[in-house]
Amino acid sequence: MRSSLHKAAVLSAIAIMIIGSGCSSRRESVKREFTAMGTLASIISLDDGDRTAIPSEEATQIAQKEFSRLEKTFTVYSLSSDVSRINRAAGQEWVDVSPDMVTLLAAARRYGELSGGAFDVTVGPIVRAWGFNSGVTPAAPLPPERIRQLLDTVGYGTIEVRPGAARLTRKDVMVDLGGIAKGYAVDIAWDLIQRKGGKNFIVNLGGNMRVSGQPSSKRPWTIGVRHPFSKEEIVGRMTLKDGMAVATSGNYERFVTIKGRKYAHIFDPRTGMPVEGMASVTVIGPSAVEVDALSTSCFVLGMDKAMDLLAKLPGNEAIFIPDSQPMTIWITPGMKDIFECFSQWTSTVKIISR
Ligand code: ADP
Ligand code: MG
Repeated sequence: MRSSLHKAAVLSAIAIMIIGSGCSSRRESVKREFTAMGTLASIISLDDGDRTAIPSEEATQIAQKEFSRLEKTFTVYSLSSDVSRINRAAGQEWVDVSPDMVTLLAAARRYGELSGGAFDVTVGPIVRAWGFNSGVTPAAPLPPERIRQLLDTVGYGTIEVRPGAARLTRKDVMVDLGGIAKGYAVDIAWDLIQRKGGKNFIVNLGGNMRVSGQPSSKRPWTIGVRHPFSKEEIVGRMTLKDGMAVATSGNYERFVTIKGRKYAHIFDPRTGMPVEGMASVTVIGPSAVEVDALSTSCFVLGMDKAMDLLAKLPGNEAIFIPDSQPMTIWITPGMKDIFECFSQWTSTVKIISR
């Protein structure tokens, strides 16, 4: 990493690292870490003596409280969560749920529609059958007839919501919010911290992040993009303006090995197969829930179709790193002024032409 970045507050987050406020400034950022929703969370905040801003400790407490509240709603590991109750009542009846659940399910359905089914929160049975989320890893890749059977229970179109309630219109459908809930939680915490007086901070939940303000009057927040083939390295950094969010979906953190071959935790809900060919997709945009859903969607769609999806949602930009050698870093045209690649990788960067 370059020397000017030696004070980098490197986050051990799933996909992304944060580069802090730099060394020339007196304004120091403080990082407070904790675990939430099964992953590492942190609040990076500027404790700069600004008496109108809340202290980082308070911002962290707000995030911790919100994450734990939302986890109780969204987890499939508790029988009494909203999501478990909806799943149990699949094909039967409406279930009273919290406003958060209604909002998130409506968003999930919308991203299902926008992505043509590449994003589908009912893909859970497939994910589990391949050995993720407490499923047992099969000894061999699932046979086509088993996949066909499982696909019968997949379909975001079976999700219906109304104020205060939700239902799944088909039996055996199961909602798994793993591809979107963390982003939603980041937005909720970000919003609440701001409303309580937070100014210059970053909310991070397992690599899903949203920034507020900036670390110094001269510079915006910068976030490192992880090298998908080399754990400790980052390939470059992005500058994020006030309010922007970032998420990465990658094939390098969670995978199973079946007959010597690695399969990652993101699935194509249209085929029931684990997605291959992509190493990582990073998306930046106006909200954490949107970039969380989009990073997963774009990972599934592949670059060309992902570009069609991104065109429908202005304000989002992406970095694609295919799972092939030599490494190529593909960026959307709008990412050109946001992403700065470290010098050793510049020759590998290509701008996607439309
Ligand atoms: P992570 O949760 O590791 O940050 P993602 O945001 O990309 O990564 O979400 C991946 C998770 O989303 C998987 O673990 C699984 O629970 C769920 N998932 C997998 N494939 C899809 C898909 N096509 N659409 C929606 N959710 C998915
Ligand atoms: Mg996601």
